[in-house]
Amino acid sequence: MTRGAQPVEGGVIFFCQLFDRSWRPKIFSMKYFWEKSYNIAVSKNRPTSLIHFVTNRCNARCPHCFIDFDDLKSQKAQMNLQDIDKMTRTIGRQLMNVNFTGGEPFLNRNLKQICHLYLENTAIDSMFFSTNGGFPQKVAELASELSAAYPKVVFTFSISIDDIGDRHSQYRKSTMLYEKAMMTYRKIQTLGRNVQGNITLTVSPHNAARIKDIFDHLHSIENVRSLTATIVRDEGVYKVAPERAAETLRAYKELVSLIHKHDLFYEDSGYLSRMMNEKEKKLYRYIEKAYLQPRFQLPCTAGGLLGVIYPNGDVFPCEVLGKKMGNLYDHDMNISRLWGKNTELRKWIKDTKCNCSYECAWSYNILSSPKHMLQLGVRGIV
Ligand code: SF4
Ligand code: SF4
Repeated sequence: MTRGAQPVEGGVIFFCQLFDRSWRPKIFSMKYFWEKSYNIAVSKNRPTSLIHFVTNRCNARCPHCFIDFDDLKSQKAQMNLQDIDKMTRTIGRQLMNVNFTGGEPFLNRNLKQICHLYLENTAIDSMFFSTNGGFPQKVAELASELSAAYPKVVFTFSISIDDIGDRHSQYRKSTMLYEKAMMTYRKIQTLGRNVQGNITLTVSPHNAARIKDIFDHLHSIENVRSLTATIVRDEGVYKVAPERAAETLRAYKELVSLIHKHDLFYEDSGYLSRMMNEKEKKLYRYIEKAYLQPRFQLPCTAGGLLGVIYPNGDVFPCEVLGKKMGNLYDHDMNISRLWGKNTELRKWIKDTKCNCSYECAWSYNILSSPKHMLQLGVRGIV
């Protein structure tokens, strides 16, 4: 939804759920703990996190969006509930997180039922919503209902912002979108302990020169307490002009340093947040190194731990690589069967040292890396 990338925190949340704030181990209350752990640490061949595009429709028209809104077929595409029910029943025990995105996910009128299908048919520990925040009431109602019904699941609502006030609404070509987005953030802040709101600020050539002013406004005037930086990437119909890329990266680094300075990572001071925040800091460093000149730094787990489901049933390892894993409708909606047929693709990603700056994959590359796993765990403790 934000064409940079959405931070996918489900895996971190999963690890952090091993302990509560009083340091009592909680592993025995977690569903399928050993299967999930073995998959993420060793086998890496079952979906740990899915990015599910529930619609390509959107109430905004951001210049950096990769969706072709003139393509009527893709605008109409949407899986029905029966098909999603079938698909989610075949996911298996290893799934920890689903990230709903689009388009604007809250434009799918079945979103609530889709959430319930994942929550009932899979063993997920967290649910992530990437939204432009244009529907404050719908978001608050869904967050309130789900958090009460599933107190052990963490629900994160990440609201994408590019600019302040009218500039934001005009850039995204949606009237009053800024005001609605901030209202959504404020409503989320008042909900249950298992609901968290976050602002995702995507750095692009559009806002690079004013990134500090935008940050200052969000921090000082809007009182935003959890902010994530992403950097726009080339995809679909959107391309960053090469002469603007260095400036965009400079602004991204400035924003990351402001987030550090004001400590706008996840707010909770418990084990969960410390570990999550440590992963985020590592992710920022990797992205900074890879943005201008993509290079191999860690093996990519896309297609193994991570996959992307599009509204027409296509499944890809990520939003970047143009190699399709398959289409759910060709596999009777059985995603496990489809996943199992992609051993060769996973091998190709590994053997070619495929690399890019796609943040969603980076979250899992860091989490599943022996180089970082222990350090992340220790950082959560001290
Ligand atoms: S808000 Fe809508 S138009 Fe903008 S990037 Fe997200 S999906 Fe695209
Ligand atoms: S390195 Fe990037 S393009 Fe390659 S599989 Fe991973 S996320 Fe996709």
